[in-house]
Amino acid sequence: MAYQTINPYTNEILKTFANTSDAELEETLTNAHALYQEWRKKDCLAKRKQVILRFGALLRERRTALATIMTKEMGKLIGEAEGEVDLCASFCDYYVAHADKFLQPTVIATTSGRAKVLKQALGVLVAVEPWNFPFYQIARIFIPNFIVGNPIILKDASNCPSSAQAFADLVMEAGAPAGSLTNLFLSYDQVGKAIADNRVVGACLTGSERGGASVATEAGKNLKKNTMELGGNDAFIVLDDANWDQLVKVAPAARLYNAGQVCTSSKRFIVNAKFYDRFLKMLKEHFANVKMGDPLDRSTTLAPMNSKRAKEKLQSQVTLAVANGAKVYYGNQPVDNLTGQFFMPTILTDITPDNPIFDTEMFGPVASVYKVNNDQEAIELANNSSYGLGNTIFSSDLAHAERVAAQIESGMSWINSGWASLPELPFGGIKNSGYGRELSNLGFNEFVNEHLIYEPRQ
Ligand code: NAP
Repeated sequence: MAYQTINPYTNEILKTFANTSDAELEETLTNAHALYQEWRKKDCLAKRKQVILRFGALLRERRTALATIMTKEMGKLIGEAEGEVDLCASFCDYYVAHADKFLQPTVIATTSGRAKVLKQALGVLVAVEPWNFPFYQIARIFIPNFIVGNPIILKDASNCPSSAQAFADLVMEAGAPAGSLTNLFLSYDQVGKAIADNRVVGACLTGSERGGASVATEAGKNLKKNTMELGGNDAFIVLDDANWDQLVKVAPAARLYNAGQVCTSSKRFIVNAKFYDRFLKMLKEHFANVKMGDPLDRSTTLAPMNSKRAKEKLQSQVTLAVANGAKVYYGNQPVDNLTGQFFMPTILTDITPDNPIFDTEMFGPVASVYKVNNDQEAIELANNSSYGLGNTIFSSDLAHAERVAAQIESGMSWINSGWASLPELPFGGIKNSGYGRELSNLGFNEFVNEHLIYEPRQ
């Protein structure tokens, strides 16, 4: 598999990267493991916090230059890429501010003696990350684990090598010791070998179910702890008491941000009959008014998709949906006036549960809209999915929204808002959307050894 930077706006191949050799992988394993052992022997937390603070400062200083690398590599709008850099910098602030508290031993209340749980590093991790948020996905795993003392071997998406390398180089520039985060251009086979290696203690993946199943199988076979952040088919539920003015500001962007390539994009709009016709018209108006074009141009509002392959896959999914009875309310026309990998924003209706697309994630600017008559129908439809990542509930009555949210089988619910990710909010799903959490204290603890020290009363 070739690691290549191909600009999806111009289709130009900007750079090709050589694959990592087995010898380089072996050297990386040795260095990362030695670093873990060194960190265990000496208390280097204060130094690690300094590195993360410096890393955050560098991210802020180089904001636009770093954002441009991402935009040229996977096509996202420059403003969205800058927002991503800012978000990563906020993770630095958060984990430095909370490091001591999160690593503090917890005392266990017991009348039988004295007990406490130490929070210790586990060892080297293999992180497999996707292209849709080239910096954010790495930051979510690297920053907390660097604070814990777990070195990372990174295998990033083959279409995002420049971003991954820029991130890893910046970590070094911030003063991290060699082995803290090593970006390698690994084959799938080498990922398996790395996970199986005795010096590696865990693995994490953000990506598709296919990639997740493969990495989780390797980890399971070798009894290594792993976390999986997989796909979603998130519902956006409009209840009968939704605030229309608020809804209009949120719904279109909840689908089109990052050209619709977000695990937690709202993909299924489940709308109470009271609002259904009005909702379709509103969404169509917004979709028809996007400006496709150069993602580096700040007036562009819809980015190209990340690759030709992704665009072709989405087109084949829409074609399949239509062949099985879905109706095109808007879109699904070729974008001929631009050379990049643009997909016309599309609205589908009449998707029945027997349509193969009903339970399939469409990773791009395609919205499926469903009509329901009451809350119960909305909840049942939302839960009729093999995914369980996030969802949005719109209601002007917060207690009503929370009651509905609590009945959705998913890892995250947002009320009167599209998806959100902040350092203090745990991120992750259930069902085929994966297991484990990233960010917050929960994500921090995923690869921590909670080591019990117990002394019974004599
Ligand atoms: P993908 O094909 O699974 O790729 C993700 C990463 O896994 C890439 O680095 C990929 O490498 C690697 N990979 C895939 N198969 C592998 C295997 N058998 N062994 C080792 N590595 C393997 O996912 P994608 O389709 O590009 O990414 C989009 C998916 O990610 C969507 O489903 C989206 O919902 C999900 N996602 C989830 C979250 C979340 O937090 N839950 C966040 C963002 C995205 P190559 O590039 O070399 O194939």
